[in-house]
Amino acid sequence: MIKVGIAGYGNLGKGVEKAVNAANDLELVGVFTRRNPDSVNTVSGVTVYSMDQAENFKDDIDVMVLCGGSATDLPEQTPALASMFNVVDSFDTHANIPEHFKNVDEAAKAANKTAAISIGWDPGLFSLNRLIAESILPEGKTYTFWGKGVSQGHSDAIRRIDGVADAKQYTIPVKEAIESVRNNERPDLTTRQKHIRECFVVAKEGADLQKIEDEIKNMPNYFSDYDTTVHFISQEELNKNHGTLPHGGFVLRSGSTGENNHLIEYSLNLDSNPEFTASVLTAVARAIARMNAEGWTGAKTIFDIPASYLSDKSAEELRATML
Ligand code: NDP
Repeated sequence: MIKVGIAGYGNLGKGVEKAVNAANDLELVGVFTRRNPDSVNTVSGVTVYSMDQAENFKDDIDVMVLCGGSATDLPEQTPALASMFNVVDSFDTHANIPEHFKNVDEAAKAANKTAAISIGWDPGLFSLNRLIAESILPEGKTYTFWGKGVSQGHSDAIRRIDGVADAKQYTIPVKEAIESVRNNERPDLTTRQKHIRECFVVAKEGADLQKIEDEIKNMPNYFSDYDTTVHFISQEELNKNHGTLPHGGFVLRSGSTGENNHLIEYSLNLDSNPEFTASVLTAVARAIARMNAEGWTGAKTIFDIPASYLSDKSAEELRATML
């Protein structure tokens, strides 16, 4: 059995708990939190410990799966925990991945540990599909579309606006753009031509709705480069119709070998972004335990993980059933 710990118990933490408990070869040792452990109740009843107690579990945990947020938690937590455990994280601030990799690599190498960073679907499975597609079809163009799905970052940004009580934001790919790529037209697409943003907003009583809508639509980086629609709804409606966290998307590569065109398409349609991401983290946790046992150390990304190590089946069984 591979013994697994969970650091941070939010959406992802709960998803990893579910995925580890469903696996035959993985055993969940405990959840570690920065909050008072008595205030955190796990779904499966597994014990919750304070993050400060983690170092006492160095010999009892083969892989720690980090489920903190990318903005401020993981830049600190991943290097710190990689100096004690093999780890897996879902760091998704694309621009800062090289710096995060370097920090984690140093900590993990010094402790002879293996650390997988930026695991999930993007970065993660989508990155791997972009790499494979571009390696096979060097002449061509790659496109990534996200959605339809909830963007937590954009939903948070709306909630910070004065007069807003609650909000959900959906990112939706533009159908015509995907069709054009599928037809091997290889269009040059602007941000606005690739995705639209749809917002469901609960306003506080007496709030100026026009002002809120203008503020959303003109918000730099988040909305101003997109066609955005804003719907004002009640809290009951938001809870009833927008309570889940679906997501997904498409990676497409349109390429040519001389006069012949080829299209590679990989898509995901997820009822729950965190549960799916957690399932990817859990499969990678299995791989990381094996890689460390074989002497690999330092930081790794999805590009470095042998595919067969993700599976609970033996290499022999995989060759017989999946090749
Ligand atoms: P959450 O906000 O649900 O959880 C983040 C952390 O918040 C938890 O680990 C938890 O740490 C802390 N927390 C504090 N108070 C609470 C509370 N009351 N309830 C729950 N958690 C609390 O984030 P998610 O799990 O949804 O996502 C984590 C990260 O995963 C995101 O920042 C995103 O960057 C990344 N991600 C990556 C993807 C990919 O494809 N690579 C896809 C999806 C997400 P503690 O227990 O220590 O307090």
